[in-house]
Amino acid sequence: MNGPVYLDYAATTPVDPRVAEVMSRHLTLDGIYANPASRSHMPGWQAEQTVENARRQVADLIGADPREIVWTSGATEADNLALIGFMRANRARGRHLITSTIEHKAVVDTATALEAEGFEVTWLSPGPDGRVSPTQLAEAMRDDTLLVSLMAVNNELGAIHDLAALSEVTHAHGAVLHVDAAQASGRIPLDVNQLGIDLMSLSAHKVYGPKGVGALYVRRSPDIRVEALIHGGGHERGMRSGTLPTHQIAGMGEAFALAEREGQQDQERIAGLSQRFLDGLSDLPGVHRNTVAEVSVPNIVNLAFDGVDGESLLMALRGIAVSTGSACNSASVEPSYVLKGIGVPRARALTSLRFSFGRFTTEEDIDTAIAELRHAVTTLHP
Ligand SMILES: *Cc1c(COP(=O)(O)O)cnc(C)c1O
Repeated sequence: MNGPVYLDYAATTPVDPRVAEVMSRHLTLDGIYANPASRSHMPGWQAEQTVENARRQVADLIGADPREIVWTSGATEADNLALIGFMRANRARGRHLITSTIEHKAVVDTATALEAEGFEVTWLSPGPDGRVSPTQLAEAMRDDTLLVSLMAVNNELGAIHDLAALSEVTHAHGAVLHVDAAQASGRIPLDVNQLGIDLMSLSAHKVYGPKGVGALYVRRSPDIRVEALIHGGGHERGMRSGTLPTHQIAGMGEAFALAEREGQQDQERIAGLSQRFLDGLSDLPGVHRNTVAEVSVPNIVNLAFDGVDGESLLMALRGIAVSTGSACNSASVEPSYVLKGIGVPRARALTSLRFSFGRFTTEEDIDTAIAELRHAVTTLHP
């Protein structure tokens, strides 16, 4: 297929053909299509088996028990269920929530909605490396703090939080840690027990699975309670009703199984590509990396092109598909709130682009991107 070189894997990934193949076997009459909640016949049991197999595949990647996985429509819903569901279920014990200013909108907007409901939110400002420090978190903890919500890997910066340290602070104050791990699964090790995570949001489409399915990990020991947001047939132990989308879930399971088998080698190969990309631009004037490589994943590279108009730069880059800020707010011309949140000056934020690489990125793709950028920057530089 001819088209621009796709360097926007942090916005979404293409479905791995092996995942698509599994999904296609869970749709039609000759496949497994029955309702997994149908307990009275063989096709229903087979569908249930598919769902439970996928539940184990997802649980395995994060070191969880399959019974701790609640299917949702994606990480956005998982974030909503974690924040709203947990705060409402525990409102008798407190009303304070701590999060950061550079979380994904699925957390930022949900926390804002909770403020309107009478809960109190402390918004932590991360350092210039895109991370909230354990000391900062400790200073914000209160006696009535119920929940801390911090992401594993930032979707615009690639910055990785020190979850083990943040979890220790959270638990020392008797609170619960929620982690949005949509960008982290398949990229960094994510053992919920080693890291001390109580609630964790996952999405299939950032890991070569289909859009429209995700999960919330909900710790069973100690027992974490979340109140349902979607009411109905009492599916998912009452936490999330609705007929389970068997094909989507089978796809997410396969995608997570592939991530467990191949994630690390993918990341090592991508780290090489990422370095090749940066090396190819290193002698260009005004190129500045907005993040700190040592604490970031290699698959996301956020670069500013000082002195070049951001809009013109994007227009000049016809051959590569990249993102200004994050895809979710690319409709607005305001600079990214995440770059603003780590102190990047407005002018620099407006010339910044996010490049994100993935399983199907080739050396040739990287070289095309380097050539396009070199041409565009040299032409547009005053
Ligand atoms: C993509 C993303 C989401 C939203 O996930 P959906 O499955 O698309 O709802 C949430 N958080 C982060 C960090 C993301 O990258």
